Amino acid sequence: GADRPAADVEAEKKSGAPPFEVPEVRFTKLFINGCFVDAVSVSSPPGRTFQTRDPRSGDVIASVAEGDREDVDLAVKAARDAFDHGEWPRMSGSERGRIMTRFAELVERHADELAALESLDGGKLPAVTKAVDIGNAAGSLRYFAGAADKIHGETLKMRGQFQGCTLREPLGVAGLIIPWNFPTTMFTIKVAPALAAGCTVVVKPAEQTPLSALFLADLAKQAGIPDGVINVVPGFGPTAGAAIASHMDVDTVSFTGSTEVGRLIMEASARSNLKPVSLELGGKSPLIIFDDADLDMAVELAISANFFNKGEACVAASRVYVQESVYDRFEKKLAERMRSWVVGDPLNDPRADQGPQVDKAQYERVLSYIEHGKREGATLLTGGRPCGQKGYYIQPAVFTNVKEDMVIAKEEIFGPVMCLMKFKTVEEAIARANATRYGLGAGVVTRDMEVASRVVRSVRAGLVWVNCYFALSNDCPFGGRGMSGFGGDEGMQALDKYLAVKCVVAPLRGSPWM
Ligand code: NAD
Repeated sequence: GADRPAADVEAEKKSGAPPFEVPEVRFTKLFINGCFVDAVSVSSPPGRTFQTRDPRSGDVIASVAEGDREDVDLAVKAARDAFDHGEWPRMSGSERGRIMTRFAELVERHADELAALESLDGGKLPAVTKAVDIGNAAGSLRYFAGAADKIHGETLKMRGQFQGCTLREPLGVAGLIIPWNFPTTMFTIKVAPALAAGCTVVVKPAEQTPLSALFLADLAKQAGIPDGVINVVPGFGPTAGAAIASHMDVDTVSFTGSTEVGRLIMEASARSNLKPVSLELGGKSPLIIFDDADLDMAVELAISANFFNKGEACVAASRVYVQESVYDRFEKKLAERMRSWVVGDPLNDPRADQGPQVDKAQYERVLSYIEHGKREGATLLTGGRPCGQKGYYIQPAVFTNVKEDMVIAKEEIFGPVMCLMKFKTVEEAIARANATRYGLGAGVVTRDMEVASRVVRSVRAGLVWVNCYFALSNDCPFGGRGMSGFGGDEGMQALDKYLAVKCVVAPLRGSPWM
């Protein structure tokens, strides 16, 4: 499932898949050293909790233990002990891989429940989540399970009478701070390479969506991952998140989220132990549609590139550039197609193409961007209004008459808002695509492979899609440039984030030293 384009999965979902049950919430405590425990929170009332809400209604789903600095300390201590004295970094790579494969199997076995839990907590479509997020999560565990016994250094042909080699060793305790838009995928694409490398981890899920990470922690335990290897501390960013980022005993941090917080993570590292960090941040990705494109296909791509997962995707192609000669036809087709787009309850309306935004803050933020766009003089072609009796539903917005210097064309909105713009030449399209400090995704739609190739080579981005969008699999490195961060996830390169190279030198036999 993970390597199938989202559009295919969207089509499949409409074919009458069985409804997903609203799941029982079984895990709401911190997961430290293999046990579910209350927060100790010395600095706040012990056993402190926070509420996670259903974005379909705003109602409380559950109270979840709220980790703070003291809880992070305990989680890091458990991870440290498991790393310094435990079996995980010392067992063979193939044994680690075997246990990770069991973890993947358990994720697959619980795919329906996990998908429904994600929908309840985050407003996602369960059938799509099952195919895309859960498929990708299990795939990532399998991919890195296969890599765990293929981690090795090199022999060096040294000058003089010495021989040398490199060892690739696990870095230690990894702090993994993740966002709310793809919680299961984010958990596994960071946990899997860290585990394969032999690291132990402390995960902080986003406060909007803590439930799936706790569910996954339980599956990891069932799979046989030793206590202390995976610890999960739900809580807020400025408390639990900041405590991980500045911890002297955390050896690396991998973060996915906003550019603003990415900066704080780097500062915290600089002020503490100079731990290496990797940052997977926001974007304002361009999709460039040339006049020779199959326009029906281009319309579908623009829609899924913007409105998949309600626009809550870091690689969303929120700037769509259409070549002048086909612009009017494209705009008309897009407006027509959007008439059949359904915003609805992801767990109860099988026709729904789009569920609610993740929470009230995000809902209000997106609506205020839409108001800003109108005030700046852009025209709403479709949508852009709140909808539904309750919950955080927004009709997807398509803006036309957008100028490059408008806020809606420059800032990441992280919601269902598309900016449609015109261009004349390939050079102009490339220049405008690159006129951003971000550099995450990009798409090009054309039948002319020479044009596609020029765009692919010139656009500043970590991922470029040609005549498709969002197509991914576990071997695709996923990361950005510029203010979209560095040190992405997935693909074999992600292993390097959790490994340190040690160079070992010894004299050759017969040298003056032996
Ligand atoms: P965020 O950056 O505030 O939160 C992401 C994670 O970081 C959460 O777990 C949060 O608790 C934690 N965090 C927050 N403040 C922290 C701090 N001071 N120290 C350590 N951790 C901290 O993101 P958000 O506000 O939840 O989402 C909004 C924006 O984030 C979006 O507009 C988008 O730019 C970005 N985002 C990007 C991705 C991506 O895949 N690149 C995913 C989700 C969100």
